[in-house]
Amino acid sequence: MTPSIITKQPDGRTPPCLRTHAEACREFRWEAVRAEMSPLPGGRKGLNIAHQAVDRHAEQTPDGEAFRFVRADGSVASMTWGDLRSETNRFANALACLGVEAEDRVFSLLGRRAELYVTALGTLKHLAMFCPLFSAFGPEPLLERLNRGRAKVLVTSEKLFRRKIEPIRDRLKSIETILLVDGDGGSDPSILDYRSALEAGSNQYEIPDTDPEDMALLHFTSGTTGQPKAAVHVHEAVLNLDVSARYALDLHPADVFWCTADPGWVTGVSYGIIAPLVVGCTVVVDEGELDADRWYGILQDQRVTVWYTAPTAIRWLMRLGIEASRPYDLSHLRYMASVGEPLNPEAVRWGVEAFGKPFHDTWWQTETGAIMISNYRTTTVKPGSMGLTMPGIEASVVHRVASDDLEFVKEPDVEGELALRAGWPSMFRAYLDNDAAYARCFRKGWYLTGDLVRRDAQGYFWFVGRADDLIKSAGHRIGPFEVESILLEHEAVAEAAAFGKPDPISGQVVKAAISLSPGHMPTQALERDIMAHARKRLGAAVAPREIEFLDDLPKTRSGKILRRLLQEREREIYAATFPDTEEAP
Ligand code: AMP
Repeated sequence: MTPSIITKQPDGRTPPCLRTHAEACREFRWEAVRAEMSPLPGGRKGLNIAHQAVDRHAEQTPDGEAFRFVRADGSVASMTWGDLRSETNRFANALACLGVEAEDRVFSLLGRRAELYVTALGTLKHLAMFCPLFSAFGPEPLLERLNRGRAKVLVTSEKLFRRKIEPIRDRLKSIETILLVDGDGGSDPSILDYRSALEAGSNQYEIPDTDPEDMALLHFTSGTTGQPKAAVHVHEAVLNLDVSARYALDLHPADVFWCTADPGWVTGVSYGIIAPLVVGCTVVVDEGELDADRWYGILQDQRVTVWYTAPTAIRWLMRLGIEASRPYDLSHLRYMASVGEPLNPEAVRWGVEAFGKPFHDTWWQTETGAIMISNYRTTTVKPGSMGLTMPGIEASVVHRVASDDLEFVKEPDVEGELALRAGWPSMFRAYLDNDAAYARCFRKGWYLTGDLVRRDAQGYFWFVGRADDLIKSAGHRIGPFEVESILLEHEAVAEAAAFGKPDPISGQVVKAAISLSPGHMPTQALERDIMAHARKRLGAAVAPREIEFLDDLPKTRSGKILRRLLQEREREIYAATFPDTEEAP
């Protein structure tokens, strides 16, 4: 019999950041958090993420270790706060030299290497907007995002440039400069060597006055209709990132923190860069790929104390068995958390078996900018629950009624949509150039998340599903429309529907149902051809893993494809195939 709650052993070594959840919620004031932020030096006004994350630490402990990069070959390179300040200053000066102004967009397309982190923080110093791109995207998602975001500068590597940017170069509308971290562009004057650009300027830089409402980050996110939307976040988001790092992740300045999310996505930027640096931790970055021995080795050798990872990775480690972890000394690891997709109860309990402590599930999304619901070090973990609201955040379960009203669910355990009272500092301020979509997210002063949940009598939130057709694969949010548009380019495809197929490791994988144009037969060769087309254009992270040919796709009476029905059928097949597992992801 497995326990329905997990009572944790007290950790005598480090006092918890959040002592009593209820009391912290009662007493919480954003004004108090604001007052704790370090002012910009020299009487300059405002609140700047990069000052909070870099310069104020560099001032106090220039020789302290900000980043620890574990290279693919296993060697380790440290970057001190002093180095990080100098490098980000140089980057900010390089941007000034390139004519980049406030709110101009600086994009990165890089693996997890030092230049990406310098680009992010240097851009924030210069008051330009930082926008990361996932390096496993294919040319099409990259083109869409670079143009939609009006990228002015792109920082990338020679290899990624040749493979993914060169084929779309003549369709990129706004890019003025490409900085290559490991090469130069030959005779192309718009392509510069990153290192030379940085060396040309000074390592001193004065962060200008920064209004807390100044735009800072642009994160592309998928919706169910249309192309991806770009959520805009401002410098004031640092308040939520600071509070959540301390309360939800229990981060202390002495911690060695490892967030395994790729910085091409929101978690990898918010919690893989900004939040832990704001607290003053050492951030471990793994430049390699998911591999059990490598990961256990990093936890052991780098003496990681706090680990933030994702259900897909946890399930992957589970599959290899607890024995794989046994040779490693993981005694420094004191806290573990998870995000991005539903964390199944088995995974929480496996944490206890394998590491002697549970994974603490946390919930948030691109639009919320920071963790909104979480399990905490000092609260009881109910495996399968996302936990309790963060202090400073008000969450409700609602039903949309009429065209613009909300009905609030008062009773426990009733399903409804998760809504958050609008106005927390890291709330997105816009979808770039899409005011109508932004307005649709709000009703009566509440932000509607699109997630279906229920709340139990103790206030714990339980994830039920999405209210829409978004696909979550290995923690990546994928819009069906983006996939379908590319499939429809293939001459044999008449109609396409992309949806999430339950998968025991990745939560969901992208599957597509396709009906063929007249004259085409559903052969294996055709399937391979369509798959190859999708992979080439979309990249492996977004392209369907599986295709099924159907004579007709199910539709509503008005002709809209019923992706939900196709997904439901997959869930039934999954339940029949894995009768012993908890509900299909
Ligand atoms: P993204 O904006 O890409 O971070 O995706 C956000 C979405 O991921 C949420 O709206 C949820 O559907 C899902 N999600 C994130 N965290 C969790 C969690 N802890 N449990 C269940 N679903 C989650």
